[in-house]
Amino acid sequence: MANPFVHDFTGKTVVLTGAGGVIISKIAESFAQAGANVALLDLNEEAANKVAEEINASGAAGKAAGYLCNVLELESIQAAHDAIKADFGPCDILVNGAGGNNPRATADNEFHEVDLPEDTKSFFDLDPAGVEFVFNLNFLGTLLPTQVFAKEMVGREGANIINVSSMNAFTPLTKIPAYSGAKAAISNFTQWLAVHFSHVGVRCNAIAPGFLVSNQNIDLMFEADHETLKPRGEKIIRNTPMGRFGEAEEMVGPTLFLADEKAASFVNGVVLPIDGGFSAYSGV
Ligand code: NAD
Repeated sequence: MANPFVHDFTGKTVVLTGAGGVIISKIAESFAQAGANVALLDLNEEAANKVAEEINASGAAGKAAGYLCNVLELESIQAAHDAIKADFGPCDILVNGAGGNNPRATADNEFHEVDLPEDTKSFFDLDPAGVEFVFNLNFLGTLLPTQVFAKEMVGREGANIINVSSMNAFTPLTKIPAYSGAKAAISNFTQWLAVHFSHVGVRCNAIAPGFLVSNQNIDLMFEADHETLKPRGEKIIRNTPMGRFGEAEEMVGPTLFLADEKAASFVNGVVLPIDGGFSAYSGV
């Protein structure tokens, strides 16, 4: 039997949304190293192009190209789809990586109290538009690209979808009800898609990253110097049995495993935590 951990995605087209960001750029690079052509989609076209240039300059076996794409607009996704099809052919593997939280959907306090300072942005002050933004970015931003790309994945050997959930999908984190709910919806949708496409050979799984330092959460974890942990950052480390933040590189192995037909052909509908034990720990 071939060693399932030598991944070979030669000839595959992998489409990744949010690919200009911290986690998905690393995943894209590894798919290219394993032979796939990678299409990097991002609202920030410059970021996607920069990652593509770096991958192409690295001597990776597969080619990379950046595409402007807003995962919330079908027309934008369709335009990216058409360009990718012309450049690389139909999509084999879709990684729905675009997502995140927004300060407008984040409360200041962990617990409601009767005597909160007046300037506290509490649960009662959350902006409905902010909550809607977060739900749309994560949930619709996964559903719409799937509608556009999965059509041509049906019947393609080894086709599969990887969604990006989070720790807070298992147990919600304080302060961020919208992001927690939206990622819970992603886990649920992952199972839904796995079942829905099970007769047509398209598997669907998700990764649930633990705590990494990224652009979108650095100010929640660290003081302005970006070195001193805030109490929330300290709490996260205390509740991560392995006692540290994760690295973006550590998301790669589990993702390639799930995407690899040789390694994971019967794995369908799972949400794989990559979290240093956070979701296994009760804190006691
Ligand atoms: P990041 O902010 O570095 O990257 C996110 C990327 O998505 C950015 O390049 C951004 O431009 C892009 N994006 C935002 N809105 C978009 C839109 N409408 N259309 C297309 N692209 C858009 O974040 P990251 O940490 O790399 O996060 C990647 C995924 O991992 C997200 O789904 C995030 O929710 C999830 N996640 C992150 C962590 C963490 O600790 N960093 C933990 C769990 C889950």
